[in-house]
Amino acid sequence: MMGKHRKEDRLPPTAGRPIRNKVVAAVVAGGAFAAVGQPLSANAGSEQERDVQNLAKTKNLSTAITGTQNSPAAVRLLQAQQPARPEAQELAKAKAIEAERIIREEAARQAAIAAAEAQRAAEEQARKAAGFHVPAEGTYTSGFGSRWGSSHMGIDIANSIGTPIYSVAPGEVIDAGPASGFGLWVRVQHDDGTITVYGHVNTIVAEEGQRVGAGEQIATMGNRGQSTGPHLHFEVHEDGTKINPLPWLRERGIDVT
Ligand SMILES: [Zn+2]
Repeated sequence: MMGKHRKEDRLPPTAGRPIRNKVVAAVVAGGAFAAVGQPLSANAGSEQERDVQNLAKTKNLSTAITGTQNSPAAVRLLQAQQPARPEAQELAKAKAIEAERIIREEAARQAAIAAAEAQRAAEEQARKAAGFHVPAEGTYTSGFGSRWGSSHMGIDIANSIGTPIYSVAPGEVIDAGPASGFGLWVRVQHDDGTITVYGHVNTIVAEEGQRVGAGEQIATMGNRGQSTGPHLHFEVHEDGTKINPLPWLRERGIDVT
């Protein structure tokens, strides 16, 4: 059996009190409203309110708050974030740029040298391709200039009768036949107008008007005309003038001495 309960004892001890508390709260709230309203009117024109008005009159509100006209706050922030020694970094950067410039210039210089070398090689190749050739194999026996009181207007290359004589460069045979003093000769006009002369020849292989290449045989060596032994007399006529064949040949990669 359960014990006997006294329900009266379980009534809330504070029953009815909340009503009184609400009344008190309403009174306090009313007092508060009155208290807030009163200072606003009482402090109108105070020092604090004038400060707010001055701030509002400023042209740039953000500048007024964080910076000045000449040094905005944002710029000052960036400056503040830079490393302690910005001049050292600038110096390193300038050095890097200078080093890069030197490397570029050196590369350009090397490229120019390579280009010049390539051009020189190409010119030499072109000259070889144009095909300069010795006029005849043999012994260089006489040079260009005064000889025995008279002028020798070419060079002499001695060898046995019948030794092949070649055109030194591409051109056209403009004479192939008898010639005073030379017995028989062949003359070839080259593409730049230069004429080469081959004298004292024994036999003529090419014909007048024939196109010949460099190294193409045009005659054989002989002893005809005013000659004291089998040899080739070779001349170069440039613009109508008989020039020394030795340097002319050497410039074209041919040395007969
Ligand atoms: Zn001669």
